[in-house]
Order: sequence, then structure tokens, then C-alpha cells
Amino acid sequence: MSAIDGLPPLREVIARHDLRAKKQLGQNFLLDLNLTAKIARAAGDLTGCDVIEVGPGPGGLTRGLLAEGARHVLAIEKDARALPALAEISEFYPGRLHVINGDALEIDPLAHLTPPIRIVANLPYNVGTELLIRWLTPAEWPPFWQSLTLMFQKEVAERIVAKPGGKAYGRLAVLAQWRTDARIVMTLPPEAFVPAPKIHSAVVHLTALPEPRFPADPKVLNRVVAAGFNQRRKMLRASLKGLHPQIEDLLNAAGISPTARAEEIGLEEFCALARLLAAAPR
Ligand code: SAM
Repeated sequence: MSAIDGLPPLREVIARHDLRAKKQLGQNFLLDLNLTAKIARAAGDLTGCDVIEVGPGPGGLTRGLLAEGARHVLAIEKDARALPALAEISEFYPGRLHVINGDALEIDPLAHLTPPIRIVANLPYNVGTELLIRWLTPAEWPPFWQSLTLMFQKEVAERIVAKPGGKAYGRLAVLAQWRTDARIVMTLPPEAFVPAPKIHSAVVHLTALPEPRFPADPKVLNRVVAAGFNQRRKMLRASLKGLHPQIEDLLNAAGISPTARAEEIGLEEFCALARLLAAAPR
């Protein structure tokens, strides 16, 4: 029996169901249930919340979420080999765990859930970044979720929370910080996982703001930020010149030096420029 619930230890579950980690599915499992319970606590108060977990695998984090009181967990797992292990958890917590076997990039989980909704995941890093961008760019704000608690490669986590002035600051930081409070809540060494990856990892917790930090049209802001950071070594008057014939005047009006580079510009200035661009006749 494990420390957080009456279920068997994860090593035993993995051995019994022959869940050898598959590299192509980005499988690096967390086996320490005290650690998975800690990650679940970093997601905030789960009682009264529905939680979407992406990539439960053998269910270490799933068990943390349920032990920490999540009302209902909807777990989306691509690897059918994990289903029998997850069924045992479901039986232990009757009516609280619903597992969908499929690709999280293709499944719309909303039909199965009741707000408030939190999202928690320890995912392969490429899938994690793609999902993060989708969750940060819905058509309407506030989004369907209250918070995201996601494991990333440490370097990606640092890009999400980066402030202007350094190499880590870019589109991901602007996208995340414009409409959420984002912070790194935990860092994990490679040995926390089985098998151990080559890199360190970090958990980022993002809380949706009721409205964006500064007003701007998301499409225009995205265009400005993409153009600015795609050529991040260039001055903005050059990297943004395709956006408007009078871009230098607009930059000056937004309080931005036309000779500055994108990585020096804060959110408020990017939003001011996006508003001026949206209003400027061409
Ligand atoms: N949550 C478990 C843990 O913390 O030990 C497993 C984490 S492992 C890094 C990533 C999990 O995501 C694996 O179980 C893998 O099969 C699953 N996965 C990979 N790609 C996926 C996708 N596109 N949709 C759903 N699950 C996916």
C-alpha cells in the first residue's frame, strides 16, 4: 500500500501491467506519490473542481489529484496499455475518474466537464507546448479553465515566465503573461523520473486573469509579437515594417523607440502598439 492511498506502489503497477516506458510517447514516469501529491497541491484547491489530466500513464499524478480531493478527473491517455492500471484507480475512487483513450491534441474534453475546471499535466514537452498555446489563445476570454499546472522542460518553463531584457523573453512569455499570472512552482531533477530524461524539468502554474492585463485585439497583438520576435536581433522599425507603412510613427506614439529590439519591450507597450495598429488607416 502507498502513503497517499490504499492502492499498490507504482513500481508494482508498472511491472504487473508491463508498462515499459516508450520513448516515442515521451514516457518519463513519476513514481514518487508524495511528489505527485505535491504537484496536485500546486494546482490549488481541487475540492469542488473538475480536473483535466493529459497523459496520466500509470496514474501517479492521477492518484495525487484524487487524493487531494478533485471532484472529478477526466484523464486523456494515448497509450492503451495504461488503461487497465487506470481502471484500478477508477474502481478505488468510484465515479471520480473518467479515462478517455486518445490523442489530447484531437479530443475536446469539455462535453464531459462542469466548471470550475483546472488542467494538470505531465506531458511530452512538444505536446505540452502546443496545448499550452491552444489553451492561451481561445476565441473568448476568460477561457473554460481556471488554472493550468504543467510540467515542462526547465528551459521552456523559464521562457513562459521570462521578463523583458533577456534571451528567454519571447512570444511564449507575452502570450502567457498577457492573460495569466504565470509562475514556476517547482523544479525537478532528471532522477525524479523513470526513465530519467537528460534535462531538468519545472512545473509552471498559470492562473487565468478575468481579463487581459492590457486591452488589445489578440490577432493584432499576435501579429506584432510574431513579427518582432521572428527577427529578434533586428530593430523594431525593421522587423515590424511589413505591418504598416508608418510603423516608425506608430512605434513612437506607443512610447517605443523604433531602434529598440522586441526583447526590450514590455507587455504594456506591445499592447499599446497593437491598439494603435488596429486603429491606424493604411
Ligand atoms: N502523468 C504520468 C506521470 O506523471 O508519471 C505520465 C507522464 S509521461 C511524461 C507522458 C504521458 O503522456 C504518457 O503516459 C504518454 O503515453 C502520454 N501521451 C503522450 N502523448 C499524448 C497525447 N498526444 N495525448 C494524450 N496522452 C499522451
